[in-house]
Amino acid sequence: MNLIMFGPPGAGKGTQAKRLVEGRGFVQLSTGDMLRAARASGSELGQRVAAVMDSGSLVSDEIVIELIDDQITKNPGVAGFIYDGFPRTTAQAVALDGLLASRGQRIDLVIRLVVDDEELLARITKRFEDQGRSDDNPETFVKRLAAYNTQTAPLLPFYGDRGLLREVDGMASMDGVAAAIDAALAG
Ligand code: AMP
Repeated sequence: MNLIMFGPPGAGKGTQAKRLVEGRGFVQLSTGDMLRAARASGSELGQRVAAVMDSGSLVSDEIVIELIDDQITKNPGVAGFIYDGFPRTTAQAVALDGLLASRGQRIDLVIRLVVDDEELLARITKRFEDQGRSDDNPETFVKRLAAYNTQTAPLLPFYGDRGLLREVDGMASMDGVAAAIDAALAG
């Protein structure tokens, strides 16, 4: 199973992905988490992406595609992958198709969590207070949302045209969202 959790920052992609990891043994591939880990480790990659992340812009396609490629290779035979925060551009989506095709796999499902902008800002503001993630401040959030709208949302027809897209009301309770995702996975 190759499942994409799709949606803007603060939509609940990570939260729902973690639940699927616990419940179904899937592996969560979050490029945001990988990049934050690289920064925390002080690696050369981490230093290279820090300023771009703090600005709310996207890091280069090559970097995140390589991170995903590595992780797919390092997790052979798992029950499934959940792509969280990836792909975010058309180039990334095309590359992911290629990475999967070369392994005899493909994207099975794209779940889009739909949440309105006002609620996203409220959630990100709360996460900023709770976790202090530097790019969760309201100013940077506006840029991240703009990046989503201009670079990531255009991917929706890429998957929709192939019949892979399911929309879930991300404004529902956490359990309600989880139930809707389970229903989508059940087909
Ligand atoms: P996230 O935790 O998914 O919101 O990602 C935090 C930041 O990491 C983003 O604002 C980008 O700067 C960077 N990032 C994460 N995933 C990607 C991706 N797939 N493509 C480009 N940049 C990314």
